[in-house]
Amino acid sequence: MKKIAKAALFVQENSELFQCPICKDAFDQIEGNSLSCKNGHLFDISKKGTLYFLLKGTKNEYDKEMLSSRFNIATAGLFHPLLDELYKSIAKKEDGHTLDVGCGEGSQLDYLASLGLSGQKIGFDISKDAIQLAATHFSNAFWCVADLAQSPFASQQYDTILNIFSPSNYKEFDRLLKKDGQVIKVVPEKDYLIELRQLFYRDQEDKQTYSNEVVIAKFKEHFPTLEIKHVKYSFELTPALFEDLMKMTPLSWGASPESKEYALTHPLNKVTIDVCVLIGQK
Ligand SMILES: [Zn+2]
Repeated sequence: MKKIAKAALFVQENSELFQCPICKDAFDQIEGNSLSCKNGHLFDISKKGTLYFLLKGTKNEYDKEMLSSRFNIATAGLFHPLLDELYKSIAKKEDGHTLDVGCGEGSQLDYLASLGLSGQKIGFDISKDAIQLAATHFSNAFWCVADLAQSPFASQQYDTILNIFSPSNYKEFDRLLKKDGQVIKVVPEKDYLIELRQLFYRDQEDKQTYSNEVVIAKFKEHFPTLEIKHVKYSFELTPALFEDLMKMTPLSWGASPESKEYALTHPLNKVTIDVCVLIGQK
């Protein structure tokens, strides 16, 4: 089946998962490849089978090169041990509804699907390029371009919200979750990509450290009985993967050209992934 037809079928069968991002009404008319609410707001499914819900164009910091580098290194397994651990914490693995908030190029949700996460899965990101990449490579989930602040997703429909290295909106999470739903958030720990940070900021020790205390405290405010898992491991890099790592990480934004040049001539052969998985139960 063509991607667009498959997507139209998904939306028809799961229209209760969505809402109009403009007036918040249900999409009560789904005809062909278009969804519309009773106020006449209309959204079309693209040829790639994605939905575009942004009301105005937005700029984001991720360019295409960065996204394809992230795709390369993520599919090579950079986050697999982390996702293996995260998967164990998902309460509703079989017939739940999962929403991946800020899904990027889609590799995380696709990998979780390969582990056995079934039920309806939607990944969304504010970056159109990221969603194009996801829709090109992965057919395990439904992909949309959307903004968490003007969400096109309906209330109390989701069992699991994944929030992996991306910003949160707890009020919105609360609205979206079913009454016994979960938010699973991944945040970096102090040794996350530490080798890369040391390479980029050889002369600036203050930039070599990172603290997630504020983020965890905020999560705790909303989910006082949270569970925290620490996951730490080393990932081996080929020269090509090292280049991908350099391109994908926002860390490189703050590094001087000299530091980047230095890093390219001093490639790493491994890098540390050190993260916290925060599990909050509604
Ligand atoms: Zn509307």
